[in-house]
Amino acid sequence: MRKCRICGNTKYDKVLDMGKAPLVNSLLEKKDLKGKERTYPLIVVRCTKCSLAQLQTIVNSQKIYQDQDYLYYTGDMPQQSQYIKAFDSLVSEIHDKHTKANDLIVEIGSNDGTVLKKMMEGRRVLGVDPAINVVIRALARGIPTLAAPITKHIGFVVKQEFGPAKVVGGANCLAHIDDIHGVLEGMTELLADDGIFWAEVNYWGGMVKHRHYALVYLDHYSYYSLKNWVDLARMHGLEIFDAFITEAQGDGLSLRLYASRDKKRAKTARFLKLIDDEKKTKLNTKEAAVAYGKGCKEEAKKLFQTISNLKKQGKTIAGYGAAAKGFSVLQLAGVTQKHIDYFVDDSPAKQGKYTPITHIPVISRKDAEKRLPDYFFITAPNYADIIMAKEDKFRKNGGKFIQIDSTIVG
Ligand SMILES: [Zn+2]
Repeated sequence: MRKCRICGNTKYDKVLDMGKAPLVNSLLEKKDLKGKERTYPLIVVRCTKCSLAQLQTIVNSQKIYQDQDYLYYTGDMPQQSQYIKAFDSLVSEIHDKHTKANDLIVEIGSNDGTVLKKMMEGRRVLGVDPAINVVIRALARGIPTLAAPITKHIGFVVKQEFGPAKVVGGANCLAHIDDIHGVLEGMTELLADDGIFWAEVNYWGGMVKHRHYALVYLDHYSYYSLKNWVDLARMHGLEIFDAFITEAQGDGLSLRLYASRDKKRAKTARFLKLIDDEKKTKLNTKEAAVAYGKGCKEEAKKLFQTISNLKKQGKTIAGYGAAAKGFSVLQLAGVTQKHIDYFVDDSPAKQGKYTPITHIPVISRKDAEKRLPDYFFITAPNYADIIMAKEDKFRKNGGKFIQIDSTIVG
């Protein structure tokens, strides 16, 4: 049995079995549709010792990031989305509270540099990301970025050239890392003695509260609570002093935290409240995890019934957003190409491709105009507001939306 990512334990509680799934970021080209596609077990378990919820089996990250292009560019996301807007508070917190002119800010998993670009004014910045295609785009945009996974050695050589970093952090990449201790060693190697560490991760508390399973997919290895991070930070000489839920993913699904080496640093009220909430709701217990797994299966069943009923009435349905999140939902619910005619997606990198296994085509919204469905299924709940606002004409003409919680909006 694989060792727990945080504590090394090998005993787990079963939480949620989603069956076998393909790598979600690997949309297929037309020529590849006849080929054999690999699938892997997608099972969430909980460590009996430290409580971390994590995937039971994991796929080698090199497969995800190097054998194929990583199709997700932060800059392709709608700039008015909650996800992008949530970074504004990160930028101002880091700029105004935690750095001064010329300080070095390093971001891990910096993707195409969207966040660093916002932080560049008056500061030195460096991105570190293992996915070559996103790094090339960051470089083309003038954002210094290293195409490498962060390790202790990389942390050391970067520090030799650039000096220690006043701020080191990463948004929405740490859940995708298997060797989290190696990454934290690299990040802390680089961090100045009085430096600030930050992280933004998907939050287990929001998933449990909302029976949310869209974030369960193969390259998402860990589902962290704040308690997990307090443990993890201490193992690397860091003490978390501030943490709160951001709007990045909606539904309480995104946790941001700040830590430093100063153990006596005053804790913020919002950090203390969140720790207290986790205790009150027994978030880190086996019972909460098992109830979550059961709840997700109920949600998926409800969604399948909603969609099947519409098909029986002869309605047409298309997906809005060909994202990892949506595929997991469809997978657990058993929704396939029989139900969904096509996906629309704004990202040019995805258009003209096909979803793995189900081979549903991904097209642009403009091309969808010729054969609009009766219903759009919204795969990313945090974009529902933006999509519905943008689709005013579709709605006026009688078009409706299905959300992942099975609600229908006209
Ligand atoms: Zn553990």
